[in-house]
Amino acid sequence: MHVIYGGTFDPIHHGHLRLAVELRERLGVSEVALMPCHVPPHRDVPGATSAQRLALLELAIASEPGLTLDDRELGREGASYTAETLTQLRAEIGPDKPLAMVLGTDSFAGFDRWQEWERIPELAHIVVVQRPGPGLAPDGVPAKLLSQRSVERVEALFRAPCGHILQLDPPLLDISATGIRDRILSGHSPRYLLPDPVWREIQRQRLYGA
Ligand code: ATP
Repeated sequence: MHVIYGGTFDPIHHGHLRLAVELRERLGVSEVALMPCHVPPHRDVPGATSAQRLALLELAIASEPGLTLDDRELGREGASYTAETLTQLRAEIGPDKPLAMVLGTDSFAGFDRWQEWERIPELAHIVVVQRPGPGLAPDGVPAKLLSQRSVERVEALFRAPCGHILQLDPPLLDISATGIRDRILSGHSPRYLLPDPVWREIQRQRLYGA
């Protein structure tokens, strides 16, 4: 199964990296691909350029063969829409191989506002990771989608190329990129919230006001 974990990664931190490792083990796959987005359609403009975020990601996963990088969205002009990315990936891996995308409950709660969201379950499985927060509106589209498509066991994902939703509740570190950027900007140390090589590179390039 091909697993992609998308995000802004502005910057990558230990919360992201721990989750990626948990996912790799819980899903029983050899790799999880981190996929930084270029122009995030639903977020503010990031604090580092695409090339800078990519360089930080490369440093972060350099010694971990179970984590890979998929930078396809950074090479594309304009906004990255997940449906478009998944269509491209599906064409590459063929119709039969299971493909799964990872989302936090916070992102999944607004799933029906995404461009061409109806196509997404026809292209990939969705792994929804429980995050703190309000959760899903009980009568909204995401909750309905979940009730129609959810599976209990990881194995179900391997038996179909797409279409299932699996909920996972792994332990999460209380770290956010916003908190890291705020610390750096106010002259405080973000050390141990993110890998040392990433922090050194942030300092070297004077990113986020360092
Ligand atoms: P920001 O603070 O800028 O919003 P973030 O730290 O939440 O950033 P994103 O790049 O938005 O990071 O996150 C990418 C993905 O990682 C999202 O699916 C998000 O739910 C998830 N994520 C973010 N922080 C954590 C964390 N501490 N533990 C697990 N998952 C996380």
